[in-house]
Amino acid sequence: MGLFSRKPKTPAQTVVIPSSTTASPTAPATTNDAREQRIFAIGSDFLARARGHKTSVLSAKFYSDALMEWSMKDPNFKVQMFRFVDAYPMLKTPDAIYDHLTDYLGQEGVTVPGVIATAIKTGAVAKSVATATISSQIKGMASKFIAGQDAASALPGLKQLWDDGIASSVDLLGETCVSDEEADSYAAKYLDLINNLPAAMAAWKSQPRLESDHLGAIPRCNVSVKISALSARTDPIDSEGAMRDLMRRLLPILEAARDKGVFVNFDMEHHALKDFTIELFQRCVTQVNFNAGLAMQAYLRSGVDDAKRMCEWAIRNKRKVSVRLVKGAYWDAETIKSELHGWPNPVWAQKWQTDRCFEQMTEVFLDACPRKQGDSGVCLALGSHNARSIAAALAGLEARGLPQSALELQMLHGMADQLKHAAAEMGLRMREYVPVGEMIPGMAYLVRRLLENTSNESWLKAGFMDNADVGALLRSPAPKSGSQPATDLLAINPERHNLSPAPKGVGNGRPFFTEAIRDFSEGAQREKFGQAIARATVPKVANERTPEQAREMVTRASKAFAAWRDTDAVTRANMLVKAAQIMREQRDGLSGVMIREAGKTWREADADVCEAIDFLEYYARCAVPLFQRQRLGKFVGELDEVVYQPRGVAVVISPWNFPLAICSGMTVAALVTGNTVIVKPAEQTPGIASIMCDILWQAGVPKDVLQFCPAPGETTGAALVRDPRVALVAFTGSRDVGLDILHAAAPASPFSSPDARTNVPTHIKKVIAELGGKNAMIIDTSADFDEAVIAVRQSAFGFQGQKCSACSRVIVVDEQGPQGPAMTMFSRRLTEAMKALTIGDPLHPGTDIAPVIDVEAANKIRGFIERAKAGGLKHVGLELPTSNPFVAANASRFVAPHVFLNVPEDHELAREEIFGPVLAVMHASSFEDALRIANTPTYKLTGGVYSRKPSHIEQAKREFCVGNLYINRGCTGALVARHPFGGFGMSGVGSKAGGADYLLQFVEPRAIAENTMRRGFAPEL
Ligand SMILES: Cc1cc2nc3c(=O)[nH]c(=O)nc-3n(C[C@H](O)[C@H](O)[C@H](O)COP(=O)(O)OP(=O)(O)OC[C@H]3O[C@@H](n4cnc5c(N)ncnc54)[C@H](O)[C@@H]3O)c2cc1C
Repeated sequence: MGLFSRKPKTPAQTVVIPSSTTASPTAPATTNDAREQRIFAIGSDFLARARGHKTSVLSAKFYSDALMEWSMKDPNFKVQMFRFVDAYPMLKTPDAIYDHLTDYLGQEGVTVPGVIATAIKTGAVAKSVATATISSQIKGMASKFIAGQDAASALPGLKQLWDDGIASSVDLLGETCVSDEEADSYAAKYLDLINNLPAAMAAWKSQPRLESDHLGAIPRCNVSVKISALSARTDPIDSEGAMRDLMRRLLPILEAARDKGVFVNFDMEHHALKDFTIELFQRCVTQVNFNAGLAMQAYLRSGVDDAKRMCEWAIRNKRKVSVRLVKGAYWDAETIKSELHGWPNPVWAQKWQTDRCFEQMTEVFLDACPRKQGDSGVCLALGSHNARSIAAALAGLEARGLPQSALELQMLHGMADQLKHAAAEMGLRMREYVPVGEMIPGMAYLVRRLLENTSNESWLKAGFMDNADVGALLRSPAPKSGSQPATDLLAINPERHNLSPAPKGVGNGRPFFTEAIRDFSEGAQREKFGQAIARATVPKVANERTPEQAREMVTRASKAFAAWRDTDAVTRANMLVKAAQIMREQRDGLSGVMIREAGKTWREADADVCEAIDFLEYYARCAVPLFQRQRLGKFVGELDEVVYQPRGVAVVISPWNFPLAICSGMTVAALVTGNTVIVKPAEQTPGIASIMCDILWQAGVPKDVLQFCPAPGETTGAALVRDPRVALVAFTGSRDVGLDILHAAAPASPFSSPDARTNVPTHIKKVIAELGGKNAMIIDTSADFDEAVIAVRQSAFGFQGQKCSACSRVIVVDEQGPQGPAMTMFSRRLTEAMKALTIGDPLHPGTDIAPVIDVEAANKIRGFIERAKAGGLKHVGLELPTSNPFVAANASRFVAPHVFLNVPEDHELAREEIFGPVLAVMHASSFEDALRIANTPTYKLTGGVYSRKPSHIEQAKREFCVGNLYINRGCTGALVARHPFGGFGMSGVGSKAGGADYLLQFVEPRAIAENTMRRGFAPEL
């Protein structure tokens, strides 16, 4: 690949670091501390050497690349260009490349550099030139960071590095793994690498500095692995199960490494995997005696504790392991994700804090460095391109009397070559991290490198592009003078997002913010949850209220109405806030009830409770302003006002699929707006509904204001919705029942029923009906398949597909037809990903697929599956694991997930709501065609689009006719206030649950105009 043509300027020599007495005269005057003086001396020498390497410096070339130069000048251009680079490997034709390029660069606010603009404007010839140029630039950029398509093609480069005095650690690119097939293939590549690389390296010349440390020989061959690529179940929620699956593939790799004398380093990925990776690493080291290393991250607030924990473990267990200390590559992703979830941010907010933590962790590791052969402890490798961070570690070595060989420096391929050569010159052991692989799996890695190198926080950019002053570059990590401490987003989330009003006296007086779901990557949260659900019991509730009893409830509710209507709105709102607090206190136990009663898996149950809490907190805040009279205009002499009044008795008929969240949402919306409520829960889940009522009563809602009516729908439910005294029915459920309620709720027509002329009802019932969906996700040609496959799987099979929002059709755009490459690849990855789902008992954290709600539902779903099979549709279905005792005992309620391929548009799988784990894959010849197919059903609930083409995203926003559209994410999981939920067409009537206007349906507006002028005089004039 011609990437390894660097030569150190001078031959490697041993320690050449100047003594502290020869510190540069430019040392900052304020630096009188001996340690700082020493760091400055080492660092400035290091920097001077590095800056002396003017030739063959890839990092400098990187910055001088036209694309990078433009990116750094214009942040808008950078965003669009990096997004284009990310999508690029999926674009198979010059037309597609040109189309996407112009689309990205045509986005608002992007200044297109002259050369590109001219190429874009000038016709067909320039078009092919433009695509060829951009393609070669992107490939060139990738080749700077990725050393070859495979280990064999990278080998000459690795040898050249070795000859130049730099060792390597080979990383096989590949991160998202969606199936066992992909995990097996990745593991096989590693085995192959470990079995073959040592032999290829054996012939290389001896390099004592690279092959030994202060304790003795170290392996020549060194590889790095990302554990998430080795299992489709790398999910800490089921840490034992995930660990078993990983060890199954890891142990043969590690045993081969032990036998061949290969060093294996575990990379560190997202924070969610941190504790899991550390635990896995420790177990592997205990089981296989291989040369072991683990990357640890200093951008984590837990960094120093993590370091201490690792050192204590090594010493306690008499092990010698290596740690590659890095700052961390996922800073943006961690920051974004934590805010989205309302979780504490695991990473430091400011760069200097990361740098300081890096130095503190360095000290912890150096303290634990083994002194002589046979000692246990941690050998330190420093993964940094920051001369200050490196100099601090070198000073730390000196201070402890440790030799230079006790520390290894590591840097990334394609970055900081000047520093690498300077380090080799100084006699330090330098290792380059060398990724190899194809562009598609390498894209996530490449984009991380692009972001890192163009970040204003990058030391490398400051040091080599901006040529910052030595004093500034080597300064001890500290806040910049005059800088403000970083804002803690968690603390200001409610005000920052301002999702609701914040009426005085309601709750904490702050706007609503979403309840944070459990972070199951945290052992403590997992354990607490597991214990609570183990203890949970479902209250025994018989669905035996009769129509007569229901009518009595309506009588009581009618009597209670006036007092409740006249209760102060703030008082009512605070009852909801109190109920939310009680739910919070019982949170995991409530999940346990739903897991047992409805077959929810851990995450689904937890999300259900959070949504219920959200409805309580949100509606409490939205209700109060409704009851304050609003003045319209400012006319003198006429006071115009609008005011809302409750409707009366409300009947809530709630479904079993969100048995707490939806039941709570409808109930409290009616209550907080001053209506009295009779709750008739689904017959399958009266237990959790009864707990909800208990909580609301406990929070102060009077017993006649809220009544609980567990009963059969056909008789008692039907009687309730027909009772003329009922003012409002809030229903969520199937289309057919919803339509029946709508008909039943309407008074008889005076044209068809003569009785209706004499027996006129007092009011017309309001019906709010949220019905079904036949939701589609579109997979465009530019889609990120790694993400799309996982999102479709989750949207289709989460809670066994029993959500009205579930994805039941996935429409793949493939211009080459139903057997084209996109259809084939997507279908293959999706069906393989489906095979990674675990079917079992929902009490177990590793279960993805639990039983469906009841035998009747199971039979109905099976009917769809059998008819589709009988019709000859190609399909992939899972087998039920009947060896699992829980599955065997509940076989009549289990339905294994099925994917049907190339489903025609007129097939019932493409039209009917199934409400089970059955997914139809459909073909579309273009994005327009996909939208047409998606819009065909009469249901208009949710929809999803995976696309990286800005104009297609825009088109979907305009033309995809659904109540809730999700772009580049799954189509389920709406959050209160953030994703107001509900559809139109046959998906229901009424405005969106969890939205600003939802409560308006529970009240009636009254307008009042008062003439305030008396004999020509009016106040306010
Ligand atoms: C050999 C090697 C292996 C690596 N392996 C891994 C690995 O397994 N896992 C992994 O995550 N990374 C890994 N990295 C990547 C590494 O984390 C980044 O390259 C590194 O963060 C860059 O740090 P630096 O000291 O070179 O640069 P610097 O410019 O000094 O630091 C940049 C880093 O500071 C942090 N940062 C940026 N902005 C802020 C802010 N506002 N607040 C707080 N912190 C901020 C980020 O971590 C960023 O990457 C590896 C790097 C090397 C060299």
